[in-house]
Amino acid sequence: MEYKTENKKCQNCKKTFTIEPDDFGFYEKIKVPPPTFCPDCRYIRRLLDRNEYNFYKRKCDATEKSIISIYRPDVLFPVYKQEYWKSDAFDAKKYGRDFDFTRPFFEQYEELRNVVPHLAMVNSNSVNSEYTNQSQNNKECYMLVTSGSNEKCIYGSWCQNSHFCGDCYMAFKSEFCYECINIARCSKCVWCQDCSDSVLREKQYYWFNESLTKKQYEKKLKDFSFNKISIKKSMEKMMELRVKIPVKYYHGSQIQNSSGDYIENCQRARYTFNCKENKDTAYMQDAWLQTEDCLDCTEIIIGQLSYEVQGIDTPHRSMFIRSCFNSITDSCYCDMCFGTNNCFGCFGLKKGQYCILNKQYEKTEYLELKKKIIEHMRKTKEWGEYFSAKFSPFAYNESMAQDYFPLTKTEALKTGYAWYDHPSRNYPITLFTKNLPETSAEIQENIVEETIQCSTQNSSDQKEKYPLCTTAFKITPLELSLYKILNLPIPKKCFPCRRQDRFTLRNPRRLWHRKCMKEGCNNEFETSYAPDRPEIVYCEKCYQAEVY
Ligand SMILES: [Zn+2]
Ligand SMILES: [Zn+2]
Ligand SMILES: [Zn+2]
Repeated sequence: MEYKTENKKCQNCKKTFTIEPDDFGFYEKIKVPPPTFCPDCRYIRRLLDRNEYNFYKRKCDATEKSIISIYRPDVLFPVYKQEYWKSDAFDAKKYGRDFDFTRPFFEQYEELRNVVPHLAMVNSNSVNSEYTNQSQNNKECYMLVTSGSNEKCIYGSWCQNSHFCGDCYMAFKSEFCYECINIARCSKCVWCQDCSDSVLREKQYYWFNESLTKKQYEKKLKDFSFNKISIKKSMEKMMELRVKIPVKYYHGSQIQNSSGDYIENCQRARYTFNCKENKDTAYMQDAWLQTEDCLDCTEIIIGQLSYEVQGIDTPHRSMFIRSCFNSITDSCYCDMCFGTNNCFGCFGLKKGQYCILNKQYEKTEYLELKKKIIEHMRKTKEWGEYFSAKFSPFAYNESMAQDYFPLTKTEALKTGYAWYDHPSRNYPITLFTKNLPETSAEIQENIVEETIQCSTQNSSDQKEKYPLCTTAFKITPLELSLYKILNLPIPKKCFPCRRQDRFTLRNPRRLWHRKCMKEGCNNEFETSYAPDRPEIVYCEKCYQAEVY
């Protein structure tokens, strides 16, 4: 059947959005009605049930032991520590129940979710890395999320196979790096962005784009005074350089008929961000490895024919799924399940099959009942909708929505999102920002005993701008040794404030239609560089001609 582009009004933000002909084909294929939310509002709705790094000390409701969890101590549902939750001692099927056709689906699903124990954190096979989440195989890491196989990495996200990196976002096979974004195979880099394979391109020993010998570079680095004023000046110099050299309209390579940013090896992938090896996909974020024929997936690997899923490894023919691991197949509306297929509206199952609301059925019984529930949900207008914001276990400012679409408390409440007010911290400050040592040489070993005030607490404007600020922070011995190795001063801001600054350095996950800025070129494209930005934005062809 022939489909036409259609404009619709988003039921959430009330703005107009477009449904493309290809989208209609996909909805038809998986038998769901077209979306009622715009792509950004759908993305925010998925991000809302993803808390990566707001950790709380609380009790494990099974063992009574003190644990670290992404769930606050005051949530309704029980929370179990990982080892207990994954053991045979816990089976979520015992909470199974019948479906009631006189009531909406989500209401019944919420009742189930609020009694089934939740997994405190997800950090399997990790040594001495209690404060890591959505991660695996890490050793001696601290405050690290969505990362795997690292050692001694701190305050970072999306780090892989790296050693002793601090405050990095997307670091692959790198070591001794600090405050870097999108780096691969880098060593001793500080405040670097988009330095992939710098060694391969023989771009070693560059000082503000000036080529130096190894010796010259090392002398420059040694003589460079890493105090706050010189760091600020260097950053400004770097910004000046950045706006003089043309940039390609997207970050990434090898794309065909695709749009987005930070994309690699993609074919017919529309409006995708930070995706690799995507084919026939749209509205995807952080979807990696052999992902085909999917729409609206966030944080997945190896996906097929799936829609509106978040935090899943290997989703196949599945829809409306959040935080499931070890693959999920032919399932709908499931959450926190491991190795599941043919399940509907289930929570916390391990190797589940033919279950509805955690109750076990025979295959034919299951298929029959599933069909009836979908019919029921069509009538209640629930079928085709992802879990609503009000069913998220997290407030807006605890979730990843705050990272990609930051709001102040006033804005969030006005939009109808929940906001979490952290109990007053009142840490007794022993070191104020203005008294911080200027250089690495001046740092005393006993700095690890100090409670340092975060610099954003000095003005009410800044306080509003950095709603996740912890107000004060401590320096860990591991962190201090990294500053010493890299000759760096102590940061002025706490971890969440530094993270917020880092996120604003990356282009937003939005696209604007623009024209190539090279004189005489008429190429047009979708780019994450907003029209009012200072960079010179080129199409692929002009960029290649200029830079290589
Ligand atoms: Zn919207
Ligand atoms: Zn702060
Ligand atoms: Zn051009």
